[in-house]
Amino acid sequence: MNLLENSLAQIRKASEIMRLDPAVEEILSHPERTVEVSVPVKMDNGTLKVFTGFRVQHNNVRGPYKGGIRFHPYVDMDEVKALATLMTIKCAVVNIPLGGGKGGVIVDPHSLSKKELEALTRGYTSAISDFIGPNIDIPAPDVYTNSQTMAWIADEFSKKHGENMLGVVTGKGLAIGGSEGRETATSQGGVYVLEEYTRERGLSPSEMTVVVQGFGNAGANVAELLHREGYKVIAVSDSKGGLHCKNGLQPDAAVSCKLEKGSVGGCFAAGDACEMISNEDLLELPCDVLVLCALENQVTGENAGKIKAKVILELANGPVTPEADEILESNGVVVIPDILANSGGVTVSYFELVQNKMHLYWPLDEVKDRLRKKMVDAWKNVEDTSKEYGCSYRTAAFVLAMKRLEEAIKMRKGV
Ligand code: GLU
Repeated sequence: MNLLENSLAQIRKASEIMRLDPAVEEILSHPERTVEVSVPVKMDNGTLKVFTGFRVQHNNVRGPYKGGIRFHPYVDMDEVKALATLMTIKCAVVNIPLGGGKGGVIVDPHSLSKKELEALTRGYTSAISDFIGPNIDIPAPDVYTNSQTMAWIADEFSKKHGENMLGVVTGKGLAIGGSEGRETATSQGGVYVLEEYTRERGLSPSEMTVVVQGFGNAGANVAELLHREGYKVIAVSDSKGGLHCKNGLQPDAAVSCKLEKGSVGGCFAAGDACEMISNEDLLELPCDVLVLCALENQVTGENAGKIKAKVILELANGPVTPEADEILESNGVVVIPDILANSGGVTVSYFELVQNKMHLYWPLDEVKDRLRKKMVDAWKNVEDTSKEYGCSYRTAAFVLAMKRLEEAIKMRKGV
């Protein structure tokens, strides 16, 4: 099953247990608009290459479409539809007044020069510019895009409109209207939820081991934040390989080493008693918390039975398949689902939008306090829903979100 089928299966499952109005389920099972564009780019060697890009607007009943843009060779329309659907649900779980959207371009950005990447980003922006805007659809960073990508989009869009429209994207740098705390927001939000989970169970971070899959923005930041909280991070990996240090490793040393060597795989100086480890083996390491920060479909029916972690924290979108979910549940592995665990990113994006509109900017402490409150409230709501329906946290998060969406759909559309 691909990510779209998985997400639709989750909607169906939640819909059944909450007895959702079938008309609402039908609406949530279809994106409102899909856009596919061809983006010609003049390459450095003088040839012309055409890239394919997408923007999917899933639902805006609770507010403007919101969601990242992914630059990756495996992007396709179904993946973008699924990710847009998850954004609608995610924004409703954390209760921010935004809908769901997502974009993507089929490209390996590492194979392009900076000049080519800028041309591609500007071309893609121009191609989708009729569909986005600060009150319509607001993109943000996702896999292999960052604050530089957002700056190019904001600039291209502003040029087209003849006025500064920096609020067309979030995840911008501080110099052009970004928010304090946005860079680390996805990881910080996940850490707030995990802290709550451990505190409620009387567990102490210093006695807990952590394994992190994926070492981009979310992975590197969560490793560092958890290390600072006292958790022992024993393994990390990126797309090229992993590092396992039985006695714990120093995430900041792994970050600088990755910059130098291109992968954490060979970073033995990051800790004592270290060995290289494959991504597959890393997932199966005994640990307290496995944090998934890479791509979708990492824990599947094939390897779910071999997972030894007690808790999985999903900072990636869709890293555990529904088949894996069932195996994990019956083995007692707790999954803190993506639509809750990684919603800190879009929550601080929402704070960025608010600050852009007010032209007034909050200090880091204020952003963090507001984020903590949002994440703890969402976690408590999900926990209560899970108790009420006797279901997993994932299903509970879907139920909670779909109740909020149902109310909005009924109010606005008279369904
Ligand atoms: N790409 C992130 C996500 O999947 C952030 C989206 C946003 O900030 O709009 O949640």
